[in-house]
Amino acid sequence: MGTFRRLVALTVLAAVLGAPAATATAAGEVVRNPGDPYYEARLRASQNGRVWTGRISISFTNVADEPLGSVYFRLWSNGVDGCAAGAIEVWDLTGGTLGPAALDCTEVPVILSPALGPGDRATLTMRLRVTLPRRSDRFGYSGGLALVGTALPTLEVHDDEGWHHDLFEDLGESFYSVTGRYRVTLVGPPDLDTPATGTLAASKPLPNGLVARTYAAEGVRDFAWAAGRLEQLSGNSGPTKVVVSYRAASVTKMQAQRMLVAAQKSLSTFSAAFGAYPYPELDVVLGAFPGFGGMEYPTIVFSEVNRYTVAHEIAHQWWYGVVGNDQYADPWLDESLATWSEELPWGAWVGCASYDFPGAARLSNDMGYWGDHPNQYDTVYDGGGCMLANLAKRFGAARFLDILSDYAAAHWLGVARPEDLTALIEEAAVQYGVPFAPDAFWAAWRVDTP
Ligand SMILES: [Zn+2]
Repeated sequence: MGTFRRLVALTVLAAVLGAPAATATAAGEVVRNPGDPYYEARLRASQNGRVWTGRISISFTNVADEPLGSVYFRLWSNGVDGCAAGAIEVWDLTGGTLGPAALDCTEVPVILSPALGPGDRATLTMRLRVTLPRRSDRFGYSGGLALVGTALPTLEVHDDEGWHHDLFEDLGESFYSVTGRYRVTLVGPPDLDTPATGTLAASKPLPNGLVARTYAAEGVRDFAWAAGRLEQLSGNSGPTKVVVSYRAASVTKMQAQRMLVAAQKSLSTFSAAFGAYPYPELDVVLGAFPGFGGMEYPTIVFSEVNRYTVAHEIAHQWWYGVVGNDQYADPWLDESLATWSEELPWGAWVGCASYDFPGAARLSNDMGYWGDHPNQYDTVYDGGGCMLANLAKRFGAARFLDILSDYAAAHWLGVARPEDLTALIEEAAVQYGVPFAPDAFWAAWRVDTP
């Protein structure tokens, strides 16, 4: 770990702020279909926020050249306990025909009849019920805190590799989606707090004594929320409002204040280094989660009381959120970057000579491999972070941050692939005259390149 004070690349930052949504990769333009999704939902909570029932409409455009005959919804968190648990249920679909669920009920096909023409837009509406398992987890209810991660149906991506019919791996993340817009109304008792993706656009008391809170978000690839009788602290980081929510039973106010400071510092550090955080708010929900340290969702993170975990999940706002990736195929891409970045608010991680890779593990393995080798999964965090720290030493921290800033700008609100990052590193080595043998380097760090 180093304490190098890096220089902010102002010219690159200026380019980032005006950058349009980009999906071009080093290999050329990749069409990700369906495009421009808009999710609108209204869900009513049970008294404690463990069950959510209502309706969701999902609109999208066929951005491909061919007619679109079907789409798939991912109900990711059904993968936690499988079909029998029925954690996320959808029914009464209008606008298409629901097919049989697959992949542990994490995938539901919808037949569009007639097929959707190129450039045309469709809306599918359905009933939805989310029942959280009793468990302290990113999708679960425990100790008065409901964490509702990857609960809303999400459009599966079709790209140059076809549809991504990937299994859910509870060990890490299997998520892959394009950015879109959300407008989600959460109806519940007035004292049930609901920190959520996006910002509170409206809060309306209802005649039945409940309150309807509407959250709106743009340029996000998922929507998550928490619910409970929560304490909240807030502050600013530049133009961004930062809200820390927690249960007094499990987190002290002093801990929450420390985590608020860590979140503000992380946000300002990453904004300066990778491009300004493009959303008006960031929520941090604190708790003690035995199965995981923290979890990232667009504009909201769940985290234990640990500043590095908070920083890690906030780093994912860039690596996964702003710069998307296929987390099933390339879990190392966002995890390596988030692990390397989590040190940055307190000093860049510069220098890491080598990593002791376990067995035959390759850094670039997909989630299928790690699901079969869970005791090796730390590799995508520690091995990947170490590799980036090795690069930071070769390039110098300031130049390395310039590379990451360029990488973010090139894929801002889009999707990146490993070859986008590896190609940028190789080009930068030539540009800066840094001694670097690509084939030997990627082989040593067990990264498969095309
Ligand atoms: Zn992570």
